[in-house]
Amino acid sequence: MIQLKSAREIETMAAGGRILALTHAHLRSHVRAGLSTGQLDKIAEDFIRSHDGAVPAFKGLYGFPGAICISVNEEIVHGIPSPKRVLADGDIVKFDVGVQYQGMYTDACITVPVGTIDPTTQRLVDVTERALEAGIAQAVPGNYVGDIGHAVQQVVERAGFSVVRELVGHGVGHLPHEDPQVPNHGKPRRGTRLQAGLTIAIEPMVNVGGAVTRTLADKWTVVTLDGTRSAHVEHTVAVTEDGPRVLTRL
Ligand code: MG
Repeated sequence: MIQLKSAREIETMAAGGRILALTHAHLRSHVRAGLSTGQLDKIAEDFIRSHDGAVPAFKGLYGFPGAICISVNEEIVHGIPSPKRVLADGDIVKFDVGVQYQGMYTDACITVPVGTIDPTTQRLVDVTERALEAGIAQAVPGNYVGDIGHAVQQVVERAGFSVVRELVGHGVGHLPHEDPQVPNHGKPRRGTRLQAGLTIAIEPMVNVGGAVTRTLADKWTVVTLDGTRSAHVEHTVAVTEDGPRVLTRL
């Protein structure tokens, strides 16, 4: 069931989303080779909790052990932060963060280079960010969920990369995951119709190689089956009469 949000609820989400965006900026400024994903998880959790009323929403969600999800290189999503996973120059690291603030949830992800990355990886990150912007631009009343997926897919496939299909964006707000599902592929004018008050997480996951995924023995970490790198960026977006409002950007 889709739950539309009131103007007031959207303002609360924007306040929480601002804390999330600040958390991302904080993480970005800390990333360097030699740091473990466990250390970065602690940095994120401390930063989120330093804001009155803000809680890392993924901690314990469905039993997840970290405060945030941190996925490196061929890991697509749901990487478990660990003191044993140490970042190296040339890696890319994805910080998927959920914030609960005054009873409302926001969700966003950034992909950050560690030191100097190779040209293909840089292009992967750039294309994924462009795909997200193309998807966001479609989040207007009267459009459909399929318009978002189609826009994302077009940007990705024209660049010669592939879109992950087994994982999708979603409604967000009262809960971390709500209806509708928001796939990163699709056909125009198909699926759920978008209305003002809908709040969704749009989150392209893009692979250098094939689209197929597998889950590691830790039962969380989703990686590319072929071992090629993956980028993931995400914003929580409110559909409004004035157009898409990105709630997780400064
Ligand atoms: Mg997320």
